[in-house]
Amino acid sequence: MLKIGLTGGIGSGKTTVAHIFEVLGIPVYYADDAAKLLMNAEGPLKQQIITHFGAQSYIDGKLNRAYLAKEIFSDTKKTTLINSIIHPATITDANNWMAAQTTTYAIKEAALIFEAKVHLHLDAVIGVYAPAALRIKRVMQRDNITEVQVEARMQKQMNEDEKMKRCNYVITNDDAQLLIPQVLEIHKLIMKKARL
Ligand code: ATP
Repeated sequence: MLKIGLTGGIGSGKTTVAHIFEVLGIPVYYADDAAKLLMNAEGPLKQQIITHFGAQSYIDGKLNRAYLAKEIFSDTKKTTLINSIIHPATITDANNWMAAQTTTYAIKEAALIFEAKVHLHLDAVIGVYAPAALRIKRVMQRDNITEVQVEARMQKQMNEDEKMKRCNYVITNDDAQLLIPQVLEIHKLIMKKARL
């Protein structure tokens, strides 16, 4: 079975594209959702977070996202630390999930694939590209936040052009091109790759 990554900048449309693949019967692992579940589950990850960021990281056993976000927001060392705690746990979880799939290929959707070196565990990566102005507009609407807040999140990610150059397939999600035909084409190519 092929392991395929699906990535793109904030608001590029990764989740929207992933839902189309799901309609085709392709299982999708959503890294963000999985990380949230793992951080809330009793286990070594939760313990490590408490050790490094304090007991206030959890309220009544639930992750205190507001506190952690504030802790790491303007401190790159703390961002690196939390990533180094979370990424190995999510990679193991994703690999276990992948191993349990029985389809020709399965997808891992994640904002950080090259940044976290996740691509080393994958057979190919699909990139979702949307122009920055459109991504800002979509995220402002979706999350009800300001342009400045979206831009602050975008600045933490790898340059979009650089990211797309490293992808094996690119889907353009602007207002001009339709998503479904692009997904169908890539689905065909991956099915062909699986037969090789
Ligand atoms: P994030 O990295 O923040 O999780 P994402 O890359 O998963 O974002 P989506 O959540 O799929 O992006 O899309 C961002 C927003 O833009 C959503 O509200 C989605 O409904 C909307 N959107 C995505 N693609 C399109 C499109 N082609 N036409 C209209 N709206 C779209």
